[in-house]
Amino acid sequence: MKERTSLGPFGVYLHFPFCRSKCGYSDFASVATEEIPQERYARFLLRELSTRAESYAAGELCSIYVGGGTPSLWDPGELARVLDDIRRTFVSCAEPEITLEINPGGAGVSLERLIKIGINRLSVGVQSLDDEMLRLLTRIHDGAEARTLVLQARRVGFTNINCDLIFGLPGQTLSHHLEQLRRLLELRPTHISTYALSLSEKAPLRRAGFAPADPDLQAEMMEAGRELLEEAGYPQYEVSNFAPEAYRSVHNTLTWAGRPYLGLGASAHSMCAEGSSTLRVANPPWPDYLEAPLLLDAWLVPIVQGSAVEILDGHAARFEMIFLGLRTVEGLDRRAYRERFDGDPLDHFGSSLLELFSHDLISLGEDRIAPTRRGIWFADELALRLLT
Ligand code: SF4
Repeated sequence: MKERTSLGPFGVYLHFPFCRSKCGYSDFASVATEEIPQERYARFLLRELSTRAESYAAGELCSIYVGGGTPSLWDPGELARVLDDIRRTFVSCAEPEITLEINPGGAGVSLERLIKIGINRLSVGVQSLDDEMLRLLTRIHDGAEARTLVLQARRVGFTNINCDLIFGLPGQTLSHHLEQLRRLLELRPTHISTYALSLSEKAPLRRAGFAPADPDLQAEMMEAGRELLEEAGYPQYEVSNFAPEAYRSVHNTLTWAGRPYLGLGASAHSMCAEGSSTLRVANPPWPDYLEAPLLLDAWLVPIVQGSAVEILDGHAARFEMIFLGLRTVEGLDRRAYRERFDGDPLDHFGSSLLELFSHDLISLGEDRIAPTRRGIWFADELALRLLT
């Protein structure tokens, strides 16, 4: 199938929807089970790949991201089958980033084996280094296990390691959060992602009466956390992400730039663009995903039966590109926008953009429209202003 034309760089996302147990704050698409259908799941992903790959054949594969769920529970042999097939299917850029999300605790996967099958970036679900907070979050590991995992990963040869940290937990103070960041920095990851805790109505922690720290305190944590991380050599490059330029996540950077991605597996999301329109596909969740036949949708693109399909027309697609761009420090690439939409963002959203500029929330550069240091904390709100 390999052929090279003009879709440009794109990423593949693999969703592995299984976990050992459900964390009390999680509303991610995952199920807790001891019986993971390892071989069967890989087989169905390969079946989906063989049918859907054609829509991305003109692109250049620059990233594979294996997320979940807890994809480190996937048998490496089965994961390798899927990765090999993806690499055989597409033309790749020089060194595609291949990320695996990995959780501390439980039966440990061999890190050496992960390197052998081609994983070159780990994203570790540390979440906290405080055992009391980890118990509150009902994580199945403690801080020591998270520390050991990061250190071992580096020892066996991983040179690109992200650590996820949650802040704004019930009862957490500003100084406690900063202390967590300092302890994380001692592990010298190459990339840090920090997320404010949010609890949906369905989250067991919410139903048990817990609430995240109040929004003002969370805002203080974000600001002080950014200062601390930047002083330590981890510049902010997106609302929640901090890393030296060489270690920015290729996968997420492609997404924020509005590049296409192919999502495979239960609950995986895909995006591809056709002119000024965008097609988004959300695969059915587990277990509906399994055995569901593949069909052709309205754009004659193959999809798994039961997928939710959304077509964003010109206006919605333009909005989405700005929405994603304003999450990043570098902001929206005006030239890429003009090439795709036959007009400048100022032609389409002029009065709203000028208003945000007058409030010092965005900068209007020749090539880029970017949030200011203050504006990036309001990235979602900034984009919503464009709709009014
Ligand atoms: S390990 Fe991750 S995906 Fe699984 S339940 Fe916990 S937070 Fe959700």
